Amino acid sequence: MTDMLSENETAAHVDLFSKFDPLIEMRRNLLSTGQEDPFGLVMERVVSPTVAVCNGRETILLGTYNYMGMTFDPDVIAAGKQALDDFGSGTTGSRVLNGTYAGHKAVEQALCDFYGMDHAMVFSTGYQANLGIISTIAGKGDYIVLDIDSHASIWDGCKMGDAEVVPFKHNDIEAMEKRLRRIPEGAGKLVILEGVYSMLGDIAPLKEMIAVAKKYGAMVLVDEAHSMGFIGPNGRGVAEDQDCLDDVDFVIGTFSKSVGTVGGFCVSNHPKFEIMRLVCRPYVFTASLPPSVVATATTSIRKLMHAGDKRAHLWENSKTLHKGLKDAGFQIGTDEPQSAIIAVIMPDLEKGAAMWEALLHEGLYVNLARPPATPANMTLLRCSLCAEHSAEQVQQIIGMFTRAGKAVGILG
Ligand code: PMP
Repeated sequence: MTDMLSENETAAHVDLFSKFDPLIEMRRNLLSTGQEDPFGLVMERVVSPTVAVCNGRETILLGTYNYMGMTFDPDVIAAGKQALDDFGSGTTGSRVLNGTYAGHKAVEQALCDFYGMDHAMVFSTGYQANLGIISTIAGKGDYIVLDIDSHASIWDGCKMGDAEVVPFKHNDIEAMEKRLRRIPEGAGKLVILEGVYSMLGDIAPLKEMIAVAKKYGAMVLVDEAHSMGFIGPNGRGVAEDQDCLDDVDFVIGTFSKSVGTVGGFCVSNHPKFEIMRLVCRPYVFTASLPPSVVATATTSIRKLMHAGDKRAHLWENSKTLHKGLKDAGFQIGTDEPQSAIIAVIMPDLEKGAAMWEALLHEGLYVNLARPPATPANMTLLRCSLCAEHSAEQVQQIIGMFTRAGKAVGILG
């Protein structure tokens, strides 16, 4: 038998995009009703960490990860401008070749100081930090035990490596222990947890989970993307807050949330950590962050070390919004506020999209989140608060939600 084509034959064309047809159809149906595209909004101008102009109108931002409001901090901006003047617009190279500038070393030192750890390695994004660290440290014959609600970058890091991947039910300590117990004797084990889970804004019982992980000889990686700067007495995250940071082998974080710019990192006390700079492909085979970005990050991280007042105000905002929305009759992702994320559960995508648009018309931007990003097929309006939201803005937001909820028929 031959499967070669003769000279006059052509093979059937397979459109590689046909796999996206169901999603294309779903979007077409949603937008055909005149619904504004919730995934296509443009910020025409950004006035402050909490206000932008969208569709020509000033809009309160309640769907950014700008938790500590550092994006317009005058010192942060000045540091970025100075670095542009002194070092140019970009490094045009990898960290291991021509792409390590004084600023990259300075931001890594700021991270070591911030976390009180020995080593820090900066990546171009938090996504790449997870991709790189996870795929590099857990290899063939090793086991990764992780929460089923882990962020996409964690799953992709697992997929890129060769380890066996064993998920367990969200925040379920017993389920995690059961998985750990079954791993063959002598195998390497990595437990991956998050401090704050970003869809519902709930936190992990890290202290108990890490104790179990250590009992089974596992190393522990905690992604503190949504807690850095805010949670814990020094803003080091949920592990600091629960007094178990010393038992975490690797903390993953990002500059794209509380730090207010872009970039990712891993901090660790592991004595051999520095070898990662040579073996971690998403660190080696990509260009390093621009000098202006690392300069803004350094200034922001150092200011976040002394941001106790901002942290306290952000907690107030989170509590006020949680109570206000709950009292208005909305269903919230957590019974109590646990982070700066308040997730409002919508009955379905259509109602969620309608509510999102009604809020936008009120002058409020929130995140519409839908599967596969969300757990249990939920449609969520995710509200993320900022330390720069004033108490008045939070009251305004509660009023906007109440009016929109009635108009869309979510509230009685
Ligand atoms: N980890 C978690 C838990 C996240 O939510 C995100 C981004 N939303 C990332 C990592 C990736 O961060 P970055 O934006 O820096 O790529």
